[in-house]
Amino acid sequence: MSEVLVLVEHVEGQVKKVTLELLTLARRLGTPSAVWTGAGYSPEAQARLAEYGAEKIYLADSAEIADYVVAPKAELLAHLVTEKSPVAVLVAATAEAKEIAGRLAIKTDSGVLTDVVGIEDGLVADQSIFGGGVNVRSRVTKGIAIIAVRPNATPVEAATGAGTEEQVSFTVSDAAKSARIVERVKEEKGARPELTEAAIVVSGGRGVGSAENFSIIEELADSLGAAVGASRAATDAGWYPHQFQVGQTGKTVSPQLYIAAGISGAIQHRAGMQTAKTILAINKDPEAPIFELADFGVVGDLHQIVPQLTQEVGKRK
Ligand SMILES: Cc1cc2nc3c(=O)[nH]c(=O)nc-3n(C[C@H](O)[C@H](O)[C@H](O)COP(=O)(O)OP(=O)(O)OC[C@H]3O[C@@H](n4cnc5c(N)ncnc54)[C@H](O)[C@@H]3O)c2cc1C
Repeated sequence: MSEVLVLVEHVEGQVKKVTLELLTLARRLGTPSAVWTGAGYSPEAQARLAEYGAEKIYLADSAEIADYVVAPKAELLAHLVTEKSPVAVLVAATAEAKEIAGRLAIKTDSGVLTDVVGIEDGLVADQSIFGGGVNVRSRVTKGIAIIAVRPNATPVEAATGAGTEEQVSFTVSDAAKSARIVERVKEEKGARPELTEAAIVVSGGRGVGSAENFSIIEELADSLGAAVGASRAATDAGWYPHQFQVGQTGKTVSPQLYIAAGISGAIQHRAGMQTAKTILAINKDPEAPIFELADFGVVGDLHQIVPQLTQEVGKRK
């Protein structure tokens, strides 16, 4: 079977969930090979990648690869494409990996598809484009298929692979060293899951009314083990930090469940959440556009409904 390269996303040596999703997808398309870049590789990482089907793990684990932003990773993947002739390269549809995908496409004279939410036989991708306003089915017709897949778009399934390690001898070119990372600042992280990776997201909008009121959104999120998101109206008002903004100019999320409380459903907000599997909207205006998109809608005051929902979830634990 043809090889499918999967660029591993990892933080502090931990393989991120999106990589397990990519490996699950890759198994349907061919034989998955994980590509590890930068420091932090460990036997635990090897076991995790093998558990989800990686037959091979290409290791380019010098710290240097991660020290020069995206260029060395694109170079490394281009090197592997030439050496291994894979049928496809899968990356996560994150800002960084999409840039890597674009650079790789130029280097290998191939087509690239981004914001993909599913891949079918024949490498036909379901793609969410124009800020999420349109869904299309696309296929790369030139070179190898380079596909950036949105986190949470694929349910993960374990299936053991051999996980055979292969060290890649690769030297980063001088051209790829033109922008160096000089400092990394660790983001303060609470107990909640990372927004773009969470299976459930509870978001609040202008209807929440104040920064203090966001506590009811957080309480619901915590009862569900969810991440908290916010509309731009809420982040611009200073009620919730900008890094939690969902939408065209914020984060893109594709959770199993998205709860929108006091959010009208503007196109720019939809762009970041409409590929969620199930959408629940809570809004006091029955005409709010979010209801056109929602699978379930509750018309009413979120200040009453959200705490009741939290209470009900609590009872079922
Ligand atoms: C270039 C550009 C980029 C943008 N990017 C983004 C983006 O990334 N993300 C984003 O979110 N927006 C973005 N916006 C802004 C976007 O157009 C909307 O203005 C924004 O999404 C509105 O946020 P909202 O739904 O919270 O507020 P509103 O549109 O004001 O809606 C508030 C909703 O809360 C409801 N409500 C009020 N009180 C209650 C209550 N007590 N109980 C229940 N419901 C209540 C109201 O009925 C209303 O539907 C962008 C705009 C532009 C021009």
